[in-house]
Amino acid sequence: MANHLVTIASACVLVAGSALAQTPDAKPRAPSAVEAAQQAAKEAAEFEFLGALARTCFLPPSRSEDLRDLTPAYVSDPSKAPARSTWYAEPAKVFDNLYFVGGKIHSSWALKTSEGIILFDTIYPYNSEELIVGGMQKLGLDPKDIKYLIVSHAHQDHIGGAEMIQTRYRPHVVMSGPDWDLVEKLPNRFKTMAPKRDIVATDGMKITLGDTTVTTWFTPGHTDGTNSFTFQVQDRGKPVNVVYSGGTALVYEWTLPDWSIKNLDTYMASQRHLAAKAKETGATVLISNHSEFDNAYNKNRMLAGRGDGPHPYELGADWVQRYFKVTENCARATQLKVQETAAAARSH
Ligand SMILES: [Zn+2]
Repeated sequence: MANHLVTIASACVLVAGSALAQTPDAKPRAPSAVEAAQQAAKEAAEFEFLGALARTCFLPPSRSEDLRDLTPAYVSDPSKAPARSTWYAEPAKVFDNLYFVGGKIHSSWALKTSEGIILFDTIYPYNSEELIVGGMQKLGLDPKDIKYLIVSHAHQDHIGGAEMIQTRYRPHVVMSGPDWDLVEKLPNRFKTMAPKRDIVATDGMKITLGDTTVTTWFTPGHTDGTNSFTFQVQDRGKPVNVVYSGGTALVYEWTLPDWSIKNLDTYMASQRHLAAKAKETGATVLISNHSEFDNAYNKNRMLAGRGDGPHPYELGADWVQRYFKVTENCARATQLKVQETAAAARSH
């Protein structure tokens, strides 16, 4: 055993030695500002927020808003919709009054109140019927009781079923001003998805239905009008405060550095804003509209084996704050990269 270790150790020295031979002055380099921000995000994430870390620190951008008014392929030809096996997930009763009616990747949530249901987000046009309407029925909820539909932001993976739900069940539909404008500007892009303009959400607006109040928070950056939410649920009768992050992926373009730097500033300010509201309201649960960020798909399966144990979604207030440290630090790292790339391009 000892001999093996010696052999491995000397092999390492040899490799290091040959690398040094090529760059005799190489010294361990202090982390760059980008790496320091990424490191801070990684330390905040630990294992809980690896999806948010990967998406916001290490994956390519979600790009700037595509303002071409094109009808998506899955609308003009429904046979082009992704296979059901790629998106289907079982619905789940997550808290006494909060139900998951989403899919494997995208989430939709039904908040039951004493006077009806508040629905958050609506997934795609091709799966909202089965996942939301079907999911609610499977869980014993009547979609006719949807009184409010709150759309976090106007992207097709969240607004896809909004027109159908508005037409069929006549709830109030809530979205921010900039995202209502976006939908109206691009009728083909939102074909079969666009609800008619109804309630314009503003920062700090309260939506009360029966015994339950949802507060909407203006958190632009993912879109110009992304909204996030805080509200209370019950876990076996115990009140639990929830923060719902409405838009997580970073939106920027390498070729538009000035716009990107500004948009990432907006995003970071939104993360700080929502983190402060989460803290003020004592949020111990963080949910999202993508399982990638809150691990909803896996946590829903963990619920079945909970027994008398802790609720898999209840992270505690400190962990909720860590989520916002991940997103803010990754946005900062990305902003620095955009700045460096732009400076390098200018010096050529
Ligand atoms: Zn989006």
